[in-house]
Formats: sequence, structure tokens, C-alpha cells
Amino acid sequence: MPRPIRASIDLEALRHNYLLARSKAGSAKAFAVIKANAYGHGLQRAIQALGPVADGFALLDIAEAAQLRAAGLTQPIALLEGFFEPADLPEIERLCLIPTIHGDAQLAMLERTRLAGPLDVLLKINTGMNRLGFTADSFPAALARLRALPAVRSITLMSHFARADDEAGIAPQLARFKAIAGGLDLPVSLANSAALLRFPEATAQIVRPGIMLYGGSPMPDIASAEQLGLRAVMTLNSEIIGVQDITPGERVGYGGSFEAATPMRVGVVACGYADGYPRHAPTGTPILVGGRRTRTLGRVSMDMLACDLTHLPEAGVGSPVTLWGDGLAADEVAAAAGTISYELFCALAPRVPVQVR
Ligand code: PLP
Repeated sequence: MPRPIRASIDLEALRHNYLLARSKAGSAKAFAVIKANAYGHGLQRAIQALGPVADGFALLDIAEAAQLRAAGLTQPIALLEGFFEPADLPEIERLCLIPTIHGDAQLAMLERTRLAGPLDVLLKINTGMNRLGFTADSFPAALARLRALPAVRSITLMSHFARADDEAGIAPQLARFKAIAGGLDLPVSLANSAALLRFPEATAQIVRPGIMLYGGSPMPDIASAEQLGLRAVMTLNSEIIGVQDITPGERVGYGGSFEAATPMRVGVVACGYADGYPRHAPTGTPILVGGRRTRTLGRVSMDMLACDLTHLPEAGVGSPVTLWGDGLAADEVAAAAGTISYELFCALAPRVPVQVR
């Protein structure tokens, strides 16, 4: 008998969330960020759900972009982070991709290569994230070098916000962007999900929503996914595969980190860190058994975790369990485990069978 764990991906919810993002984008184009295997949801599934509706896509590698073209998608595709080498440029041009130019090495590559053109590029400006991009000092020369390349048809200025999801917001980065590139008559792309939802002034010509498409709140401390009108896309389900009645003083799981103070019923769930459940989720992480909310107990094992059935007498072996998704926001589980829903989704293990709804 196979292990009862499975993930389901709700394509309708994915499309709903994308359309919500687009409705917030005004006249800007909403490029669906589908990097990292569509945040763990499966690139082909994202293509199926979003192919017919998305204005454009953003991802990381050329092989993934090739899958979109092979599926017949003709929308613009941005290559975020700009990992490419000279040998990739013909493929970038053949697939009509929009590479991100964020440093001198890439500019030099474009200058040395005979480009067929026309090539559309994103020119990345570092406004305070301090990962990639040109600064106030290096930007003017970079722009001039790009403009001197006859094959470059269009340049979109882009930047990425470090704190669109917290109280500090985007103001310092937006001010720096304006100081560096404010007077230029070029299209702009700035907003991720949080900026799109919180700061309409950052919308510009292209927005790049990622996590909100998958039903994660980009700012769980400020608004839940439900409050934002987002629907869960990935639901991780399993079942209770064992039950133990324990007495006060008994402990649960590796390390015995949880000790019962009263008589308890402990349910054992077929889901562990090898399935992608976070090992660092502590006792008390929310979980649904038979649709009712309870808590995990003790340390998460490789293939199993324990939960509290003391107040759920109707639950037993075979009871359905939801680890996150429908009825239990991934953001809540992530917060309990000290992480973010992005990480939960991306960590879903290949061994977990996936159904599409
Ligand atoms: N734009 C860039 C450059 C990114 O790296 C990301 C994600 O990390 C996004 C947009 C999407 O961000 P989010 O998933 O927070 O909407």
C-alpha cells in the first residue's frame, strides 16, 4: 500500500490568484513569477493554469523558458537574475527571452557577441537590496553601453524591493530609484507581490507577482492570504497511521522533546521532513485532523510526525490530515516553524505524489 501522503494543486485557484494580481496592476503588465519550478508547484502545471491568461512570465533559467515556448506560449518571458554565458545568447534570442543585465560582465558579453536582435533587456538597478544591479555611480555608463548596441531594441529598468512586506516599506528604495533613473523615459518594473498589494505607486509598466499567485500572503504579519482574497493552491494531505495512548511523564518522538503532563492520545501522521515538512516546526504547529484543528507534538521525523488527538476522540487510524493548504494557511504553518510559505512550497519533496484539481 502506498504511503497516504499526497499534494494537490488547484489550478483554478492559481488562475484566480493571478487574475487578482492583474486586477491590482492597473495598466501594468503582470508577469507571473514561475521560477523554482513555479515555487514548487510544477512548471507544467503553471503553464496549464496561467498560459492562457498571463501577460508574461518571469523565471530563472533558459531550459525552463524553453518549456514555455515548447508549450506554445508566445508571451514575453523575463530571465530574472541573468544567469547566462555567451554561448546562451543565440538561444536567448531564438526563444525571444528578456535577459536581466545586472553587472559589467554581462554587458561585456553582449558587446562581444554578434547579436541578431532585436533583443529586449531588463537593466537592473541596485536601490538598496544590495544583491544585484548597477548603482548610482555605475548605472549611467551601463545604460550608455546598452544603448550603443544596435541589437538592443528596448530597455526596461528594474529593481527589487527588500522590505515591501514590513513597516519600513519601499520609500527609501523608491526614492533612490527616482534619483538614479527618474528622468528617463523608459519602462520600469519594480513590484513583487507585496509591493503590488501595498504600494500602488510602485506599479509602473511591469509587475512581478510571485508568492501571491500560489496563495501565500506576501506580508503575513499585515494581512492573511484569506484577507487578501487569495486561495490556497497547494494542499498537502496525509492520514493518521498510528495512535498511542500515553500517560503523564511519557515523551514523544526523537529527543523526547515533548513530555505529556496529562493522559494523552497521540496520532502519528505519514509526513516527515523527507516529504518537505519543516523539521524545525516545533510542538504546537497547527495541523488539521478530520478537518479539525490540533497541534503537532515533539520533533518531526524523516517520514512521520506526531499530533495531539486528545480532544479529537473521533479521530483514529485512517483519519485525513491536512498539513497545509485548504483550511489551514501555509503561512500559519510557516510562521509556527519560523519560516515563510515560499520555503514550504519549494521544499515539497519529489517523492510526494501530486494530483491536479
Ligand atoms: N522579482 C524578483 C527579481 C524576484 O527575485 C522575486 C522573488 O523572489 C519576485 C519578483 C517575486 O517576489 P514575490 O514572490 O515576493 O512576489
